[in-house]
Amino acid sequence: MGKKYETPLLDELKKGAFPSFVTEIEKAAALTGQPEDLASMASDLLGHTELCYKEKVTHWKHGGIVGVRGYGGGVIGRYSDIPAKFPGVAHFHTVRINSPSGFYYQADSLKEICDLWDKYGSGLTNMHGSTGDMVMLGTRTEYLEPFFAEVSSRGWDLGGSGSAMRTPSCCLGMSRCEWANIDTMAITNDITQHYQDEMHRPAFPYKFKFKAAGCPVDCIASVARADMSIIGTWKGDIRIDQAEVKEYSKKMNIQSEVIDMCPTECMSFSGSELLINNSQCNRCMHCLARMPKALRPGTEKGATLLLGSKAPIVTGALMSWVIVPFIKMEPPYKEFYDLIDKIWEWWDENGKNRERIGELIERVSFPKFLKEVGLDPHPAMIKEPRRDPFFFWSEEDLAK
Ligand code: SF4
Ligand code: SF4
Repeated sequence: MGKKYETPLLDELKKGAFPSFVTEIEKAAALTGQPEDLASMASDLLGHTELCYKEKVTHWKHGGIVGVRGYGGGVIGRYSDIPAKFPGVAHFHTVRINSPSGFYYQADSLKEICDLWDKYGSGLTNMHGSTGDMVMLGTRTEYLEPFFAEVSSRGWDLGGSGSAMRTPSCCLGMSRCEWANIDTMAITNDITQHYQDEMHRPAFPYKFKFKAAGCPVDCIASVARADMSIIGTWKGDIRIDQAEVKEYSKKMNIQSEVIDMCPTECMSFSGSELLINNSQCNRCMHCLARMPKALRPGTEKGATLLLGSKAPIVTGALMSWVIVPFIKMEPPYKEFYDLIDKIWEWWDENGKNRERIGELIERVSFPKFLKEVGLDPHPAMIKEPRRDPFFFWSEEDLAK
């Protein structure tokens, strides 16, 4: 237990219906029995954060590289620029632990990692960071190696940070969701194992994130948050069970709730029969989600690969663009890995320092990217929905 600070600004953040990070830090600050140099971490964090809010400046600074032996990433160094005032947070490094696919944990494993973090860190965690890792918040430099030695001896590993492949993540896919077209958890685990070196030893122009969603509902928002989105999809016609359609028609208005909501207007309902012009379906999932017993995706399953999204840092936010409309995602994923290797090689040769792959494509043009990584243009490659194909065909191309 450390010093008690007056925190009127932070107290505002405890009000309201939602859980508050301030309340959780206060709980950690009230704990007893930690090593002396860690005991004041949570309480000094409260005082430090209050001061940052009051002065409207951050008192966190980056300084020096911190990490564990053999790894280039996984630890994010953080120091206070007023350590004499708040010695408990003089060092406040973050350690990223590689999360399991789908974020499934046994209770014993969670307890184990929390106990270790009470022993070697502030006791504060964030599950999960937006990349997906378990984020262990706040420790001192001298505790990094002992913590890593204990967690790795129990089967845990660090996640990615810096200019590297970040810890891949996914929706829970086939483990719980009937709409999954691909095994997102198996894919995510395979990418993690396949690219261990790329994750632990930063060698890219900047970060690269993979996220796998089992279907176009995209519960993990991969299209906005991953440099490479792997989104489960299908080929062929949506399967229709007309008897179940009739059952739905007794309890909902199919015309207004499904047909009129179809974004491509490719559905019709006569009152007894539902029809879909599948060539116009853009797989938005609305009809399948509204009538899951009556409609099922086509039977040939695979994924659409999209590339390029990122948050607004450096240049503005980008959404991903389709680069492969359909690819089978089955072990050993050779076609997929061959493509990723080519994309990374191209990015490595052409990207500037801290330039995400999407920014590079914007700078040099999408047709040039396609040509140089050996992908054929396709009408699904659009910059924005229903607008602006990246690639323009001449009359001669269409006559071929
Ligand atoms: Fe289910 Fe699709 Fe969401 Fe994955 S993205 S959890 S498959 S609805
Ligand atoms: Fe229409 Fe979307 Fe259903 Fe396709 S998935 S038929 S676009 S509502």
